[in-house]
Amino acid sequence: MKRDRHTKILATLGPASDTKDILMKLIQAGADNVRMNFSHGTAEDHKRRFDMIREIETETGKPIGIVADMQGPKLRVGIFKNDKIELIVGQSLRFDLSDELGDETRVQLPHPEIINAVNVGDRLLMDDGKVRAIIAEKGDDYLIVTIEAGVKLSNNKGVNVPNVKLPIPALTEKDRVDLEVALDLGADWIAHSFVQTAEDVRECQELINGRAKHIVKLEKPSALNELDEILELTDAIMVARGDLGVEIPPENVPAAQKRIVRACRALGKPVIVATQMLESMIESPQPTRAEASDVATAIYDGTDCIMLSAETAAGDYPIEAVSMMNRIAESVEGDELYRTIMDADHPDTETHNTGDSITAAAYYVAQDIAASAIVNYTTSGSTALRTARHRPTVPILCLTESHTTARQLALSYGVRPVVTIDVDNFDDMVSRASRIARTKDFAEKGDSLVITAGVPFGTVGSTNVLRIAEVE
Ligand code: PGA
Ligand code: MN
Repeated sequence: MKRDRHTKILATLGPASDTKDILMKLIQAGADNVRMNFSHGTAEDHKRRFDMIREIETETGKPIGIVADMQGPKLRVGIFKNDKIELIVGQSLRFDLSDELGDETRVQLPHPEIINAVNVGDRLLMDDGKVRAIIAEKGDDYLIVTIEAGVKLSNNKGVNVPNVKLPIPALTEKDRVDLEVALDLGADWIAHSFVQTAEDVRECQELINGRAKHIVKLEKPSALNELDEILELTDAIMVARGDLGVEIPPENVPAAQKRIVRACRALGKPVIVATQMLESMIESPQPTRAEASDVATAIYDGTDCIMLSAETAAGDYPIEAVSMMNRIAESVEGDELYRTIMDADHPDTETHNTGDSITAAAYYVAQDIAASAIVNYTTSGSTALRTARHRPTVPILCLTESHTTARQLALSYGVRPVVTIDVDNFDDMVSRASRIARTKDFAEKGDSLVITAGVPFGTVGSTNVLRIAEVE
Protein backbone atom coordinates (compact mmCIF):
# COMPACT_ATOMS: atom_id res chain seq x y z
CA MET A 1 0.00 0.00 0.00
CA LYS A 2 2.70 2.47 -1.03
CA ARG A 3 1.53 6.01 -1.65
CA ASP A 4 3.19 8.24 -4.19
CA ARG A 5 1.90 11.49 -2.72
CA HIS A 6 3.24 13.38 0.30
CA THR A 7 0.07 15.27 1.32
CA LYS A 8 -1.97 13.19 3.75
CA ILE A 9 -5.70 12.51 3.88
CA LEU A 10 -7.92 12.45 6.98
CA ALA A 11 -11.39 10.90 6.51
CA THR A 12 -14.23 11.41 8.99
CA LEU A 13 -16.11 8.24 9.93
CA GLY A 14 -19.86 7.95 10.32
CA PRO A 15 -22.86 5.91 9.17
CA ALA A 16 -21.58 5.90 5.56
CA SER A 17 -18.32 4.28 6.65
CA ASP A 18 -19.48 1.79 9.21
CA THR A 19 -18.45 -1.66 7.96
CA LYS A 20 -15.00 -3.14 7.91
CA ASP A 21 -15.26 -3.62 4.18
CA ILE A 22 -15.91 0.08 3.56
CA LEU A 23 -13.24 1.13 6.06
CA MET A 24 -10.69 -1.09 4.34
CA LYS A 25 -11.64 0.44 0.98
CA LEU A 26 -11.32 3.96 2.42
CA ILE A 27 -7.81 3.17 3.63
CA GLN A 28 -6.86 1.50 0.35
CA ALA A 29 -8.26 4.44 -1.63
CA GLY A 30 -5.95 6.80 0.27
CA ALA A 31 -7.13 7.66 3.80
CA ASP A 32 -4.04 7.86 6.03
CA ASN A 33 -5.95 8.92 9.15
CA VAL A 34 -9.52 8.76 10.38
CA ARG A 35 -11.57 11.15 12.50
CA MET A 36 -14.17 10.03 15.04
CA ASN A 37 -16.60 12.90 15.43
CA PHE A 38 -17.83 12.92 19.05
CA SER A 39 -20.62 15.36 18.09
CA HIS A 40 -22.40 12.31 16.66
CA GLY A 41 -22.67 8.66 17.64
CA THR A 42 -22.36 6.77 20.91
CA ALA A 43 -19.31 5.49 22.76
CA GLU A 44 -20.17 2.04 21.36
CA ASP A 45 -20.13 3.39 17.77
CA HIS A 46 -16.69 4.90 18.33
CA LYS A 47 -15.35 1.74 19.93
CA ARG A 48 -16.62 -0.47 17.12
CA ARG A 49 -15.01 1.75 14.47
CA PHE A 50 -11.87 2.03 16.55
CA ASP A 51 -11.47 -1.74 16.76
CA MET A 52 -12.08 -2.18 13.03
CA ILE A 53 -9.44 0.43 12.17
CA ARG A 54 -6.87 -1.22 14.42
CA GLU A 55 -7.61 -4.59 12.76
CA ILE A 56 -7.14 -3.03 9.33
CA GLU A 57 -3.90 -1.51 10.56
CA THR A 58 -2.62 -4.96 11.53
CA GLU A 59 -3.78 -6.51 8.26
CA THR A 60 -2.23 -3.82 6.05
CA GLY A 61 0.85 -3.07 8.18
CA LYS A 62 0.16 0.62 7.71
CA PRO A 63 0.07 2.83 10.84
CA ILE A 64 -3.24 4.74 10.85
CA GLY A 65 -3.72 7.88 12.93
CA ILE A 66 -7.00 8.16 14.84
CA VAL A 67 -8.31 11.64 15.66
CA ALA A 68 -11.02 11.91 18.33
CA ASP A 69 -12.82 15.20 17.73
CA MET A 70 -14.52 16.71 20.80
CA GLN A 71 -17.74 18.62 20.14
CA GLY A 72 -16.69 21.56 22.33
CA PRO A 73 -18.99 24.33 23.52
CA LYS A 74 -21.19 24.35 20.42
CA LEU A 75 -24.09 26.72 21.11
CA ARG A 76 -27.59 25.82 19.95
CA VAL A 77 -31.11 27.25 19.97
CA GLY A 78 -33.87 25.23 21.68
CA ILE A 79 -36.86 23.41 20.22
CA PHE A 80 -39.94 24.77 18.43
CA LYS A 81 -43.55 23.63 18.90
CA ASN A 82 -43.72 22.85 15.14
CA ASP A 83 -40.04 21.93 14.79
CA LYS A 84 -39.34 25.10 12.82
CA ILE A 85 -40.52 28.63 12.15
CA GLU A 86 -40.61 30.82 9.06
CA LEU A 87 -38.68 34.08 9.38
CA ILE A 88 -39.38 37.49 7.90
CA VAL A 89 -36.53 39.96 7.53
CA GLY A 90 -37.03 42.84 9.97
CA GLN A 91 -39.10 40.82 12.45
CA SER A 92 -38.22 40.55 16.13
CA LEU A 93 -37.47 37.27 17.87
CA ARG A 94 -36.99 36.76 21.57
CA PHE A 95 -34.40 34.36 23.01
CA ASP A 96 -34.82 33.38 26.65
CA LEU A 97 -33.96 30.64 29.12
CA SER A 98 -37.43 29.07 29.42
CA ASP A 99 -37.58 25.52 28.10
CA GLU A 100 -41.14 26.00 26.87
CA LEU A 101 -41.39 25.06 23.17
CA GLY A 102 -40.73 27.98 20.83
CA ASP A 103 -42.93 29.74 18.26
CA GLU A 104 -42.76 32.70 15.81
CA THR A 105 -42.17 35.14 18.67
CA ARG A 106 -39.74 33.38 21.04
CA VAL A 107 -37.50 30.37 21.56
CA GLN A 108 -35.14 29.06 24.21
CA LEU A 109 -31.44 29.91 24.07
CA PRO A 110 -30.15 27.62 26.84
CA HIS A 111 -26.88 29.52 27.36
CA PRO A 112 -27.13 32.24 30.05
CA GLU A 113 -23.42 32.95 29.49
CA ILE A 114 -24.15 34.21 25.95
CA ILE A 115 -26.98 36.40 27.15
CA ASN A 116 -24.59 37.86 29.72
CA ALA A 117 -21.65 38.36 27.39
CA VAL A 118 -23.31 40.01 24.40
CA ASN A 119 -24.40 43.62 23.98
CA VAL A 120 -27.02 45.50 22.01
CA GLY A 121 -25.70 45.86 18.45
CA ASP A 122 -23.77 42.54 18.48
CA ARG A 123 -24.58 40.00 15.82
CA LEU A 124 -25.86 36.44 16.26
CA LEU A 125 -25.51 33.93 13.45
CA MET A 126 -27.56 30.76 13.27
CA ASP A 127 -27.62 27.61 11.15
CA ASP A 128 -24.10 28.03 9.71
CA GLY A 129 -24.70 31.70 9.03
CA LYS A 130 -27.88 31.18 7.00
CA VAL A 131 -29.74 33.25 9.59
CA ARG A 132 -28.31 36.60 10.75
CA ALA A 133 -29.67 38.74 13.54
CA ILE A 134 -28.73 41.92 15.42
CA ILE A 135 -29.32 42.25 19.14
CA ALA A 136 -31.86 45.02 19.69
CA GLU A 137 -32.56 44.63 23.40
CA LYS A 138 -30.94 42.79 26.26
CA GLY A 139 -32.33 41.84 29.67
CA ASP A 140 -30.97 39.75 32.55
CA ASP A 141 -32.34 36.54 31.09
CA TYR A 142 -33.44 37.36 27.58
CA LEU A 143 -32.41 38.95 24.29
CA ILE A 144 -34.59 40.46 21.60
CA VAL A 145 -33.05 40.35 18.14
CA THR A 146 -33.99 41.77 14.76
CA ILE A 147 -33.71 39.28 11.91
CA GLU A 148 -31.43 40.66 9.17
CA ALA A 149 -31.39 37.66 6.86
CA GLY A 150 -32.76 34.12 6.69
CA VAL A 151 -35.99 32.35 5.84
CA LYS A 152 -36.39 29.72 8.56
CA LEU A 153 -35.03 28.45 11.83
CA SER A 154 -35.44 24.89 13.08
CA ASN A 155 -34.75 22.86 16.23
CA ASN A 156 -31.27 22.83 17.77
CA LYS A 157 -29.60 24.87 15.04
CA GLY A 158 -26.10 26.09 15.91
CA VAL A 159 -25.53 29.65 17.12
CA ASN A 160 -22.30 31.57 16.49
CA VAL A 161 -21.42 34.80 18.24
CA PRO A 162 -18.48 36.20 16.28
CA ASN A 163 -16.16 38.79 17.78
CA VAL A 164 -17.37 38.17 21.31
CA LYS A 165 -15.08 36.28 23.63
CA LEU A 166 -17.50 34.06 25.50
CA PRO A 167 -16.81 33.28 29.17
CA ILE A 168 -17.33 29.56 28.67
CA PRO A 169 -15.06 26.66 29.60
CA ALA A 170 -12.78 25.18 26.94
CA LEU A 171 -14.50 21.82 27.30
CA THR A 172 -18.06 20.99 28.33
CA GLU A 173 -19.12 18.23 30.74
CA LYS A 174 -19.89 16.06 27.70
CA ASP A 175 -16.41 16.75 26.29
CA ARG A 176 -14.78 15.67 29.55
CA VAL A 177 -16.63 12.35 29.47
CA ASP A 178 -15.90 11.89 25.73
CA LEU A 179 -12.25 12.75 26.27
CA GLU A 180 -11.82 9.88 28.73
CA VAL A 181 -13.68 7.51 26.37
CA ALA A 182 -11.38 8.53 23.50
CA LEU A 183 -8.22 8.23 25.57
CA ASP A 184 -9.29 4.83 26.93
CA LEU A 185 -9.78 3.64 23.37
CA GLY A 186 -6.25 4.83 22.59
CA ALA A 187 -6.88 7.83 20.32
CA ASP A 188 -3.68 9.26 18.87
CA TRP A 189 -5.03 12.81 18.70
CA ILE A 190 -7.62 14.83 20.57
CA ALA A 191 -9.09 17.57 18.38
CA HIS A 192 -10.26 20.50 20.50
CA SER A 193 -13.16 22.55 19.10
CA PHE A 194 -13.88 26.29 19.50
CA VAL A 195 -10.58 27.13 21.17
CA GLN A 196 -10.71 30.82 22.08
CA THR A 197 -7.46 31.38 23.98
CA ALA A 198 -4.06 29.90 24.78
CA GLU A 199 -5.48 29.27 28.25
CA ASP A 200 -8.08 26.93 26.69
CA VAL A 201 -5.22 24.94 25.16
CA ARG A 202 -3.47 24.61 28.51
CA GLU A 203 -6.69 23.47 30.18
CA CYS A 204 -7.28 20.72 27.62
CA GLN A 205 -3.67 19.58 27.61
CA GLU A 206 -3.78 19.24 31.37
CA LEU A 207 -6.73 16.86 31.04
CA ILE A 208 -5.05 14.90 28.24
CA ASN A 209 -1.93 14.71 30.40
CA GLY A 210 0.35 13.32 27.70
CA ARG A 211 -1.98 10.44 26.77
CA ALA A 212 -2.48 11.74 23.22
CA LYS A 213 -1.42 14.68 21.08
CA HIS A 214 -3.52 17.80 20.87
CA ILE A 215 -5.03 19.45 17.78
CA VAL A 216 -6.41 22.97 18.03
CA LYS A 217 -9.36 23.58 15.72
CA LEU A 218 -9.08 27.18 14.60
CA GLU A 219 -12.69 28.26 14.23
CA LYS A 220 -12.96 31.35 16.48
CA PRO A 221 -11.59 34.80 15.57
CA SER A 222 -10.36 35.23 19.15
CA ALA A 223 -8.01 32.27 18.66
CA LEU A 224 -6.54 33.94 15.57
CA ASN A 225 -5.60 36.89 17.79
CA GLU A 226 -3.48 34.59 19.96
CA LEU A 227 -2.23 32.41 17.13
CA ASP A 228 1.48 32.54 17.97
CA GLU A 229 1.01 31.46 21.57
CA ILE A 230 -1.53 28.79 20.61
CA LEU A 231 0.85 27.41 17.97
CA GLU A 232 3.61 27.30 20.51
CA LEU A 233 1.51 25.16 22.89
CA THR A 234 -0.38 22.77 20.63
CA ASP A 235 0.90 19.80 18.62
CA ALA A 236 -1.14 20.40 15.46
CA ILE A 237 -3.74 22.68 13.90
CA MET A 238 -6.96 22.22 11.98
CA VAL A 239 -8.15 25.09 9.81
CA ALA A 240 -11.80 24.39 10.66
CA ARG A 241 -13.33 26.37 7.83
CA GLY A 242 -16.90 25.30 8.61
CA ASP A 243 -17.30 27.33 11.76
CA LEU A 244 -14.45 29.72 10.95
CA GLY A 245 -16.27 30.78 7.77
CA VAL A 246 -19.32 31.67 9.85
CA GLU A 247 -17.38 33.53 12.52
CA ILE A 248 -15.31 35.54 10.04
CA PRO A 249 -16.52 36.64 6.61
CA PRO A 250 -16.02 33.81 4.08
CA GLU A 251 -13.93 36.11 1.90
CA ASN A 252 -11.34 36.28 4.69
CA VAL A 253 -11.00 32.50 5.08
CA PRO A 254 -8.58 31.93 2.15
CA ALA A 255 -6.03 34.44 3.47
CA ALA A 256 -6.36 33.00 7.00
CA GLN A 257 -5.81 29.50 5.59
CA LYS A 258 -2.62 30.55 3.82
CA ARG A 259 -1.25 32.38 6.84
CA ILE A 260 -1.98 29.48 9.21
CA VAL A 261 -0.56 26.78 6.90
CA ARG A 262 2.64 28.79 6.46
CA ALA A 263 3.07 29.38 10.20
CA CYS A 264 2.55 25.68 10.97
CA ARG A 265 5.00 24.56 8.31
CA ALA A 266 7.67 26.89 9.67
CA LEU A 267 7.26 25.38 13.15
CA GLY A 268 7.08 21.79 11.95
CA LYS A 269 3.57 21.31 13.40
CA PRO A 270 1.17 19.36 11.21
CA VAL A 271 -1.73 21.35 9.76
CA ILE A 272 -5.03 20.04 8.40
CA VAL A 273 -7.25 22.00 6.01
CA ALA A 274 -10.84 20.95 6.66
CA THR A 275 -14.49 21.21 5.67
CA GLN A 276 -16.49 21.40 2.46
CA MET A 277 -13.48 20.29 0.43
CA LEU A 278 -15.55 18.00 -1.82
CA GLU A 279 -18.96 18.89 -0.35
CA SER A 280 -21.00 18.12 -3.48
CA MET A 281 -19.62 14.56 -3.45
CA ILE A 282 -22.00 13.89 -0.54
CA GLU A 283 -24.57 13.37 -3.28
CA SER A 284 -22.61 13.20 -6.50
CA PRO A 285 -19.85 10.89 -7.77
CA GLN A 286 -18.01 13.93 -9.18
CA PRO A 287 -16.88 17.11 -7.42
CA THR A 288 -17.45 20.58 -8.85
CA ARG A 289 -14.51 22.25 -10.62
CA ALA A 290 -14.40 24.75 -7.77
CA GLU A 291 -14.05 21.97 -5.18
CA ALA A 292 -11.25 20.25 -7.09
CA SER A 293 -9.57 23.63 -7.23
CA ASP A 294 -10.06 24.21 -3.49
CA VAL A 295 -8.40 20.89 -2.62
CA ALA A 296 -5.57 21.74 -5.01
CA THR A 297 -5.14 25.19 -3.44
CA ALA A 298 -4.71 23.71 0.03
CA ILE A 299 -2.00 21.45 -1.39
CA TYR A 300 -0.29 24.33 -3.23
CA ASP A 301 -0.42 26.19 0.11
CA GLY A 302 1.76 23.39 1.50
CA THR A 303 -0.67 21.80 3.95
CA ASP A 304 0.25 18.51 5.62
CA CYS A 305 -3.21 17.05 5.43
CA ILE A 306 -6.60 17.54 3.81
CA MET A 307 -9.82 16.40 5.45
CA LEU A 308 -13.14 14.94 4.36
CA SER A 309 -16.16 15.43 6.63
CA ALA A 310 -19.70 14.46 5.62
CA GLU A 311 -18.34 13.21 2.28
CA THR A 312 -17.01 10.08 4.01
CA ALA A 313 -19.16 10.14 7.19
CA ALA A 314 -22.62 10.45 5.71
CA GLY A 315 -22.33 10.75 1.92
CA ASP A 316 -23.27 8.41 -0.91
CA TYR A 317 -19.73 8.26 -2.37
CA PRO A 318 -17.22 7.93 0.49
CA ILE A 319 -14.65 5.85 -1.43
CA GLU A 320 -14.92 8.02 -4.54
CA ALA A 321 -14.33 11.15 -2.43
CA VAL A 322 -11.10 9.74 -0.95
CA SER A 323 -9.87 8.58 -4.30
CA MET A 324 -10.65 11.95 -5.87
CA MET A 325 -8.59 13.68 -3.17
CA ASN A 326 -5.81 11.20 -3.75
CA ARG A 327 -5.79 11.92 -7.47
CA ILE A 328 -5.85 15.70 -6.98
CA ALA A 329 -2.88 15.43 -4.58
CA GLU A 330 -0.91 13.30 -7.03
CA SER A 331 -1.64 15.69 -9.85
CA VAL A 332 -0.69 18.85 -7.91
CA GLU A 333 2.47 17.34 -6.45
CA GLY A 334 3.54 16.35 -9.95
CA ASP A 335 3.22 19.94 -11.14
CA GLU A 336 6.47 21.87 -11.59
CA LEU A 337 4.86 25.01 -10.22
CA TYR A 338 4.07 23.16 -6.98
CA ARG A 339 7.78 22.49 -6.44
CA THR A 340 8.61 26.11 -7.18
CA ILE A 341 6.08 27.27 -4.58
CA MET A 342 7.27 24.79 -1.92
CA ASP A 343 10.89 25.88 -2.45
CA ALA A 344 10.06 29.59 -2.47
CA ASP A 345 8.23 29.26 0.88
CA HIS A 346 11.10 27.37 2.43
CA PRO A 347 11.10 28.17 6.16
CA ASP A 348 14.13 29.47 8.00
CA THR A 349 15.28 26.55 10.12
CA GLU A 350 18.63 28.00 11.22
CA THR A 351 18.10 27.88 14.96
CA HIS A 352 21.60 26.78 15.99
CA ASN A 353 20.07 23.61 17.34
CA THR A 354 21.62 20.22 16.44
CA GLY A 355 18.35 18.51 15.46
CA ASP A 356 17.36 21.40 13.17
CA SER A 357 20.81 21.50 11.54
CA ILE A 358 21.00 17.77 10.91
CA THR A 359 17.52 17.60 9.36
CA ALA A 360 18.19 20.69 7.21
CA ALA A 361 21.46 19.10 6.05
CA ALA A 362 19.70 15.80 5.35
CA TYR A 363 17.19 17.66 3.19
CA TYR A 364 19.90 19.46 1.17
CA VAL A 365 22.06 16.37 0.77
CA ALA A 366 19.10 14.24 -0.32
CA GLN A 367 18.16 16.77 -3.02
CA ASP A 368 21.78 17.17 -4.10
CA ILE A 369 22.65 13.50 -4.56
CA ALA A 370 19.12 12.54 -5.69
CA ALA A 371 18.71 10.08 -2.83
CA SER A 372 15.72 7.76 -2.91
CA ALA A 373 14.60 8.62 0.62
CA ILE A 374 15.52 10.39 3.82
CA VAL A 375 15.50 7.90 6.69
CA ASN A 376 14.93 9.22 10.21
CA TYR A 377 15.46 7.01 13.22
CA THR A 378 13.31 8.63 15.89
CA THR A 379 11.60 7.78 19.15
CA SER A 380 9.38 10.79 19.74
CA GLY A 381 8.91 11.66 16.05
CA SER A 382 10.36 15.15 16.43
CA THR A 383 13.12 14.47 13.87
CA ALA A 384 10.53 13.50 11.26
CA LEU A 385 8.51 16.67 12.01
CA ARG A 386 11.65 18.75 11.54
CA THR A 387 12.38 17.03 8.24
CA ALA A 388 8.79 17.39 7.00
CA ARG A 389 8.79 21.19 7.17
CA HIS A 390 11.41 21.24 4.40
CA ARG A 391 8.76 19.58 2.20
CA PRO A 392 11.36 17.35 0.52
CA THR A 393 10.58 15.76 -2.86
CA VAL A 394 11.74 12.38 -1.56
CA PRO A 395 9.80 10.30 0.99
CA ILE A 396 10.71 10.59 4.67
CA LEU A 397 11.02 7.04 5.89
CA CYS A 398 10.54 7.27 9.61
CA LEU A 399 11.71 4.27 11.62
CA THR A 400 10.48 4.15 15.17
CA GLU A 401 9.96 1.65 17.92
CA SER A 402 6.77 3.38 19.04
CA HIS A 403 3.39 2.49 17.52
CA THR A 404 2.01 5.76 18.87
CA THR A 405 4.74 7.83 17.20
CA ALA A 406 4.18 5.98 13.92
CA ARG A 407 0.43 6.58 14.06
CA GLN A 408 0.83 10.26 14.92
CA LEU A 409 3.20 10.76 12.00
CA ALA A 410 0.54 9.50 9.59
CA LEU A 411 -0.70 13.12 9.59
CA SER A 412 2.62 14.67 8.55
CA TYR A 413 3.71 15.68 5.09
CA GLY A 414 5.85 13.11 3.29
CA VAL A 415 6.39 10.89 6.33
CA ARG A 416 6.09 7.12 5.83
CA PRO A 417 6.19 5.71 9.36
CA VAL A 418 7.41 2.17 9.92
CA VAL A 419 7.50 0.44 13.31
CA THR A 420 10.74 -1.46 13.85
CA ILE A 421 13.08 -2.28 16.71
CA ASP A 422 15.81 0.20 17.62
CA VAL A 423 19.31 -0.26 16.27
CA ASP A 424 22.39 -0.16 18.46
CA ASN A 425 25.28 0.21 16.01
CA PHE A 426 26.16 1.84 12.69
CA ASP A 427 26.12 -1.36 10.62
CA ASP A 428 22.64 -2.20 11.83
CA MET A 429 21.51 1.35 11.21
CA VAL A 430 22.43 1.11 7.53
CA SER A 431 21.34 -2.46 6.90
CA ARG A 432 17.95 -2.04 8.56
CA ALA A 433 17.27 1.21 6.68
CA SER A 434 18.30 -0.48 3.40
CA ARG A 435 16.15 -3.50 3.99
CA ILE A 436 13.05 -1.51 4.92
CA ALA A 437 13.52 0.93 2.03
CA ARG A 438 13.74 -2.01 -0.37
CA THR A 439 10.87 -4.08 1.01
CA LYS A 440 8.60 -1.01 1.17
CA ASP A 441 9.52 -0.18 -2.44
CA PHE A 442 11.19 3.16 -1.73
CA ALA A 443 14.61 2.16 -3.08
CA GLU A 444 16.50 -0.46 -5.03
CA LYS A 445 19.94 -1.92 -4.54
CA GLY A 446 22.57 0.70 -5.39
CA ASP A 447 20.32 3.72 -4.63
CA SER A 448 21.36 6.28 -2.02
CA LEU A 449 19.70 6.93 1.32
CA VAL A 450 20.32 9.85 3.63
CA ILE A 451 20.01 8.55 7.19
CA THR A 452 19.75 10.50 10.46
CA ALA A 453 20.10 8.97 13.91
CA GLY A 454 21.20 9.76 17.43
CA VAL A 455 24.38 8.42 18.98
CA PRO A 456 24.63 6.97 21.58
CA PHE A 457 21.91 4.81 19.99
CA GLY A 458 18.69 4.59 21.95
CA THR A 459 18.90 8.05 23.57
CA VAL A 460 15.77 10.16 23.02
CA GLY A 461 16.26 13.56 21.39
CA SER A 462 19.90 13.02 20.48
CA THR A 463 19.81 13.28 16.66
CA ASN A 464 23.41 14.11 15.76
CA VAL A 465 24.41 11.80 12.90
CA LEU A 466 23.93 12.14 9.16
CA ARG A 467 25.04 9.20 7.08
CA ILE A 468 24.87 8.74 3.32
CA ALA A 469 24.51 5.08 2.51
CA GLU A 470 24.19 2.93 -0.56
CA VAL A 471 21.27 0.52 -0.45
CA GLU A 472 22.59 -2.98 0.10
P1 PGA B 1 -16.71 20.32 12.77
O1 PGA B 1 -15.31 21.07 12.64
O2 PGA B 1 -16.89 19.53 11.51
O3 PGA B 1 -16.53 19.48 13.97
O4 PGA B 1 -17.67 21.45 12.95
C1 PGA B 1 -14.75 21.47 11.44
C2 PGA B 1 -15.16 22.86 11.02
O5 PGA B 1 -15.84 23.60 11.75
O6 PGA B 1 -14.73 23.22 9.91
MN1 MN C 1 -16.49 23.20 13.73
